[in-house]
Formats: sequence, structure tokens, C-alpha cells
Amino acid sequence: MKSYRKELWFNTDSRRQMINITSQVEECLKESGIREGLLLCNAMHITASVFINDDESGLHNDFEKWLEKLAPEKPYSQYQHNGFEDNADAHLKRTIMGREVVVAVTNGKLDFGPWEQIFYGEFDGKRRKRVLVKVIGV
Ligand code: ZN
Repeated sequence: MKSYRKELWFNTDSRRQMINITSQVEECLKESGIREGLLLCNAMHITASVFINDDESGLHNDFEKWLEKLAPEKPYSQYQHNGFEDNADAHLKRTIMGREVVVAVTNGKLDFGPWEQIFYGEFDGKRRKRVLVKVIGV
């Protein structure tokens, strides 16, 4: 069995952003040389997510509105976590959107269903943060 590990770095201009990282993840898979196995991709921070969904800007705006209803950023004082930090909403948003995705690797490709794409969801950005890609298989 082979294994492969890589970190992808991001530094968003805004506090919240959704970035399609599918091509970067595919590049990792290519580099790994693995043809059959599993690929794990996870945010290495507790205020960011990796998730799979449609690359459609309307949907991304819907996510933003929905997450702001569930866990509004402001007022910061509404959260017990905010004191040294102001990112309680980001922790909550991350929990809803998930930590990681696992994708089957078949014949050297990500074995996606129709329209599936991998996204990095940033909820407390404007600083350098990482995503881990791990591939195991043969
Ligand atoms: Zn925090």
C-alpha cells in the first residue's frame, strides 16, 4: 500500500469565502500515483471546513445567508466564546459545514457523483490556514 500527504495553504482576503479546490486536490492525487484507494481532505483549523457540493454562485450565496441566520457574526457579545477572539460564529459555521471529505479513488480519478466539487470553506480568514490531503491505496 502507498500513502501520500500534502498540505494546501490558503489566505483569503475576506473573513468568509468558499474556494473550489477540486483541481488542487486532483493534482495531489496525480502526484501520489495512487490508482485505487481513498482520499481524505480536511481543514486543519476549527474555524474552516472542507465540503463537497455544487459550484454554483447562487447556492454559495444561499449558504452564506443560511449560515448567518444560524450563527450570525454580530453582535460579537452574543457568544460566550468571544473575549480574546471574535470568531465564535466561525466555529459554529464550521461545525455545520463539516471538517472533512473522503472520496473514493478509482482508476486514478476522484470517483465523484454528478456535479460534486470539493470546497474550502473559510469562516475566519485573512490569515494563513491549511488543508490536509491524505491518499492511501495502491
Ligand atoms: Zn475561537
